[in-house]
Order: sequence, then C-alpha cells, then structure tokens
Amino acid sequence: MEYKHFSHPHNLKLYQVQQGQQLRCWGCHSPCQDSVYACWSCNFFLHEHCGNATRYVKHPYHRLHPLILVPRPTYTSGSFLCNACAAAGTSFSYCCAMCEVDLHVPCSFLPPTVNHPAHQHELSLSHVEFPATEASPTSNCKLCHQLLQSRQWSYSCRKCDFSAHTFCATREVKPGLYQDDDDDGDVPEPDSNGAGSSSEAPAGDAVAELLKLQLEMEMAAHLAQMMAACKVNFKI
Ligand SMILES: [Zn+2]
Ligand SMILES: [Zn+2]
Ligand SMILES: [Zn+2]
Ligand SMILES: [Zn+2]
Ligand SMILES: [Zn+2]
Ligand SMILES: [Zn+2]
Repeated sequence: MEYKHFSHPHNLKLYQVQQGQQLRCWGCHSPCQDSVYACWSCNFFLHEHCGNATRYVKHPYHRLHPLILVPRPTYTSGSFLCNACAAAGTSFSYCCAMCEVDLHVPCSFLPPTVNHPAHQHELSLSHVEFPATEASPTSNCKLCHQLLQSRQWSYSCRKCDFSAHTFCATREVKPGLYQDDDDDGDVPEPDSNGAGSSSEAPAGDAVAELLKLQLEMEMAAHLAQMMAACKVNFKI
C-alpha cells in the first residue's frame, strides 16, 4: 500500500520501525517508534500521526483564523518560534501567516488535561488566546524550576499554585489527540477520483497557494471551505 503526502514528491510506504533503528520524523524531528510513513530513497520518514495531521485546524488558541499545516516555516530565517513551547522549529508547523502564530504539530494537539506524578491533582492546559488581551505574570515551572514565560502555554492546577511547561508535564504522555472534532479528512483514504488531483502539486506551490488564499480570504468560514477541498490526499 502506498501513500502520498503533500510534503513529499514520492509515494510513501508504511513501515514498522525495528528495535534499535534510529529514524527521525521529518515533520517534528523526534525519533520514530512503531510505524512510520517512509521513502527509503530519500530517507524521509513521518510518524503516522504527523503524516495524518489535518491540513488545517480550527484551534481554540487562535479562533480568528484557521491554522494551516505548512511543511516548512514561511519565514526567511527558515525557522519559527512555537507559541506553545517557545522552542524553535524548522519543519512542520500549524501557522497563521497573518498573525504570526506558529505551533509544532505535537504542540497543536496537546491533551486538555494530564496527570503528573509530581502533583496530586489533574493539570489543565492553559493558553491565553492569541492575540492576548492582557499579559499574565511570569513564574517558574514547578517541575524543572526554569522560567515559564507568560506568553508560553502551561499545564496548571487551578486549586494550587502549580504550573509547568507543556513539555515537562507531558514527558510521559503519548501524543494522541490528532483528530479535529468536525473534520474527518486526516485518515488515509483511497483516492476515489483516480490520479491527478490538485493536492499532488509540489509542496512549495501548494504552500504558496495556501498562503495566498489565506491572505485573500476575509472570512474564516469561506477559507475553511476552500481548505476542505485541498486536504491531504492519501492514495492506495
Ligand atoms: Zn513526527
Ligand atoms: Zn522520496
Ligand atoms: Zn512547540
Ligand atoms: Zn490569525
Ligand atoms: Zn519545566
Ligand atoms: Zn493541585
């Protein structure tokens, strides 16, 4: 079975990673375990969840516009700063080019609550909606004791004065929430209309096209409609 991903020109095959094998996901730069989408001639690999990430999300962090999945940063520097974890990224991101909102793929799908052995209560994800209306004070992460910037997302306990970096609180949590409630386009599906659909355009053109669309469209609803037509198109 072969798959097509908008970020890569060749067909990909699902591959089971062997123990001790060191493969890195091109989408998030993290090591791969379990199964990956692979192109062996390019040594290109994608986690299943990175490969299945939807082309756009309506994210509670940024309700004004849909966030669009781009295979590489749109900035001339070639990298972006993630609004959630404050770390730089150089590959996949969900972004709003108009507002300079950028999120790593795993950071876009952080679970709303997590449990951490260091705290007896459940921790909830807090992100001040972007654009922020007021700045919250900075504090220190209760897990690593490093600075937790006010504009950075955190997991916190509402009852106690306990907050932690997203990456500190989720170290043992597997990413899983890659589904957008009202979007069913992220599951590999047979290409029903045969070859030659528009989503197989080279990634660069597709991105340029998406960004152009994004700038042109005034209404998010209209944009969402347009985007629905260019979703990831997996092909068997
Ligand atoms: Zn990945
Ligand atoms: Zn390839
Ligand atoms: Zn991040
Ligand atoms: Zn925006
Ligand atoms: Zn921390
Ligand atoms: Zn607590």
